[in-house]
Amino acid sequence: MIRSVLALLDIRPAYTRLMAERHDFHRYDLLDDKQAFLDEMGTQIRAVVTSARFGVPADLLAQLPNLEVITSFGVGHDVFDLKALRDRGIRVSTTPDILTDDVADTAIMLMHATMRRLIAGDNWVRSGMWAANGPMALTRTVRGKKLGIVGLGRIGQAIASRAVPSGLEVGYFGRSKKDVDYRFFDQLGSLAEWSDILVLACPGGAATNGIVDQLVLDALGEDGVIINIARGSVIDEPALIGALQRRSIAGAGLDVFEGEPNIDPAFSKLDNVVLYPHLASGTVETRDAMAQLVVDNLNAWDERGELITPII
Ligand code: NAP
Repeated sequence: MIRSVLALLDIRPAYTRLMAERHDFHRYDLLDDKQAFLDEMGTQIRAVVTSARFGVPADLLAQLPNLEVITSFGVGHDVFDLKALRDRGIRVSTTPDILTDDVADTAIMLMHATMRRLIAGDNWVRSGMWAANGPMALTRTVRGKKLGIVGLGRIGQAIASRAVPSGLEVGYFGRSKKDVDYRFFDQLGSLAEWSDILVLACPGGAATNGIVDQLVLDALGEDGVIINIARGSVIDEPALIGALQRRSIAGAGLDVFEGEPNIDPAFSKLDNVVLYPHLASGTVETRDAMAQLVVDNLNAWDERGELITPII
């Protein structure tokens, strides 16, 4: 049996209860005196439950000398120092696949909302401008447009499979060419130049930090639209905000931001951007499935010393 489990958040109340019933379970986020707890219990903790947002801070990790396993809620792992964890022999699981469809649906939703100016249209109706001024300006169709996907992994492929029946042509950029019919670009700049709509579906972290920079935005051009369901860090945000303000790109649909939830206030003043609060996987059904997989990973480690969905 895992002696003690430390959870850094409530993944979902019913699933947190399941873990509390089975293990010696502690909620770190609810502790008044965290240091006193660590002084007394730090050596007992064998498993940490966390999320792709919180990770495990280095100063906390240093005080858990017997940690064996981290089960994370979410699929991104840019928040973890995998090399340091590997060096300590700590295993990590995430919750892949089960969120792919909802995240891909969100990318498509943001694409339509941006191209068809859903938020501006909603405001046109609510504010009475429709009655006062007549029809809103026309929008742009997605049909026949070129969709460039950065990172053709699980989510990228699910976005592509939704886009093709909607009449979009798909191209992609990534670390490797895949065995697919979509056109491969070995440079992000060339993909951006080809694309009408650029969707980011790659991991965050050092390798992708700011890869969508001024040059990429310039290559996308004034009719171009950018959709980001990856990580805020993938885009040079000041460059994006400048491009949206100057209208040197047409628009953006964003689920993720630098410094979220405290996003750059300049975004709120733009009418050519659709903002979504990092909720791409945020349906009850998917979040329950993710929470169940966190519990299952913990139990698999407890029973067999194995993880179901390990990344290391
Ligand atoms: P995945 O299956 O691992 O796919 C990631 C893809 O990105 C792979 O095709 C990979 O290429 C490619 N890639 C890796 N490094 C790259 C780089 N430096 N430049 C360009 N492409 C690169 O992961 P996934 O499940 O599709 O998830 C992708 C990302 O979506 C996650 O890492 C996370 O950041 C984000 N995400 C966001 C939400 C949200 O709520 N908004 C939810 C879930 C996930 P290879 O195939 O060559 O390895």
